[in-house]
Amino acid sequence: MALIVKKFGGSSVADANRVRNVARIVTEDYKKGNSLVVVVSAQGDTTDDLIEKAREINPEGASKREMDMLLSAGEQISVALLAMAVEQLGFPVVSLLGWQAGFQTDSKYGVARIKRLDVTRLEAELARKNIVIVAGFQGINKYDDITTLGRGGSDTSAVAIAAALHADRCEIYTDVDGVYSADPRKVKTAQKMQEITYDEMLELATLGAQVLNNRSVEMAKKYNVELEVRSSLEPTVPGTIVKEVVQMEKMLIRGVAKDGDVAQISVIGLQDNPGVAFRIFHLLAQKNINVDVILQSIGRSGTKDITFTVPRPQLKDAVGTLTEYQSVIGFQSLTSNDTVAKVSVVGSGMESHPGVAARMFEALYEAGVNIMMISTSEIKISVIIAQDDADRAVEAVHDAFIG
Ligand code: ASP
Ligand code: MG
Repeated sequence: MALIVKKFGGSSVADANRVRNVARIVTEDYKKGNSLVVVVSAQGDTTDDLIEKAREINPEGASKREMDMLLSAGEQISVALLAMAVEQLGFPVVSLLGWQAGFQTDSKYGVARIKRLDVTRLEAELARKNIVIVAGFQGINKYDDITTLGRGGSDTSAVAIAAALHADRCEIYTDVDGVYSADPRKVKTAQKMQEITYDEMLELATLGAQVLNNRSVEMAKKYNVELEVRSSLEPTVPGTIVKEVVQMEKMLIRGVAKDGDVAQISVIGLQDNPGVAFRIFHLLAQKNINVDVILQSIGRSGTKDITFTVPRPQLKDAVGTLTEYQSVIGFQSLTSNDTVAKVSVVGSGMESHPGVAARMFEALYEAGVNIMMISTSEIKISVIIAQDDADRAVEAVHDAFIG
């Protein structure tokens, strides 16, 4: 007998059949004598549809408080429907909104952080042998107003509950059956990983693997909650376990990821003096622009260039800011390119293996892919390349390391 937290994403509860399917998965585990807390997201594209509705009413942008009031409704619908499906199968069940389940957050509407999880009600419902269905993605602040945790936040809700209740397992159900070494829709030889570390998962998540929300992985690492990513469509297939230390397989590289949402900016003809980089990146930081890969040229005849990448949606803002402060920063010209992509290899094993970069670059060379920028960390090597080359690059690099 175990205490299990299960989380089902929007695609797993997209319609009535899928909701019934989830009810079956949940009640199967209940029948074995387990205690169950089930966190659900809004059905299918509900959250996006609600955002669209808000835009229709107020294209300038509704207040964040009212956005949270609206978006939290998506999860309210799915918890009630799932509870009804469980009821129909003849099992005791109760659905709870975020505040009822004890989620107290700060007041940053839209990106709220959990401050405290008061598990009194959850524990009482479990003691009554209820299957407890909890609305993910939401909480309440000190003004008793509804808050949401940021897109994809239901993963975080599930991990928080698992941590607070010291659950035996935390299973994240989605429409893929685990974490793969590359996007299995694009790379035929992509392999499912049995296990992956939190740090590797974090890198793959930021790089667009999109199976788990980043914050949830950070929280799982902090509270040492082991996660299992599994498919709600094939519930008997073992998924991928995310944990602190994994058995080192012979694989140096766990995965190859592509981030297509990147843009590159070059600031040309800067003074080759101290403080120049500070001025640029301080300005961008003030505007909350996320700078990623940075490359600085060697100074020649007193000037130098700095090239860096930003998320593509922030390109306009970044260029605008730099142009506005051209005289303060002191540069001759500025160019930008929004047809680049980032391809990265990730693996804790590479730290102790100096050949990884060379092998990656060789694979790219053989595929005829030109590298524009390179960045490395202990568990990751990324290259910035032309967007048109990205899928080919992923395939070539995946071939070189994984097969
Ligand atoms: N429904 C919310 C979203 O789409 C939360 C989630 O899916 O985890 O972002
Ligand atoms: Mg969703």
